[in-house]
Amino acid sequence: VLMIRLDKYLADMGIGTRQEAKKHIRKGKVTVDGAVVRSPEYKVDEDSAVCCDGSRIRYEAFEYYMLNKPAGVVSATEDQSEKTVIDLIKGKRRKDLFPVGRLDKDTEGLLLITNDGALAHRLLSPKKHVDKVYYVRVKGEVTEEDVRAMAEGIDIGNSASEEWTKPAVLDIISSGRKSAVRLTIQEGKYHQVKRMFLARGKEVTYLKRERMGALVLDESLQPGEYRRLTEEELRDIH
Ligand code: URA
Repeated sequence: VLMIRLDKYLADMGIGTRQEAKKHIRKGKVTVDGAVVRSPEYKVDEDSAVCCDGSRIRYEAFEYYMLNKPAGVVSATEDQSEKTVIDLIKGKRRKDLFPVGRLDKDTEGLLLITNDGALAHRLLSPKKHVDKVYYVRVKGEVTEEDVRAMAEGIDIGNSASEEWTKPAVLDIISSGRKSAVRLTIQEGKYHQVKRMFLARGKEVTYLKRERMGALVLDESLQPGEYRRLTEEELRDIH
């Protein structure tokens, strides 16, 4: 079992900073297995019954949130001037949360927010071939030729160097002056979806991620809303 200092246990669970946690402890507000403990360095484990002001504080090493990312927010943990996806998570306890992969500032949809680095690595590793599904609106007509090209892989590089994408699945939902499609890719190159359409001479006007591996965006979440993952979702992605 993991043994951690009582002040760190409380700070990890969002009971203020380490200094504030120490104050609570010294004032006698904190009990462990029913007895008041006044030393911040006292070691507890994840199963200890820790209470602060009479309420049980359960330890959670990891937190997992599904966010429907709104446009206008950056996929970073901290930013000097802009609002980040982490700022949107109000009920968080852990201070080490980060988004699993990045969506562009103007992209919406599924973003997993956690502090579980091993899970993030598995979901993002190119070797694991995790599907990412995007709903895309495009200016102009999307054709069967685009479907074939994307199935073969296309060059999204520039005049100086080629950059080929792996085969992607393009499903046309509707096509005309404006088109709506669903694109499934297994990579996450910078601005990949937009650059894939640009390579076909088409501009993306709206982009939303709907799925990442087994994790599907909960359609009841409005942009900007989030919830914790369910037990079932956690099982499916681990
Ligand atoms: N591809 C893009 O171009 N943008 C995103 O945000 C995600 C995938």
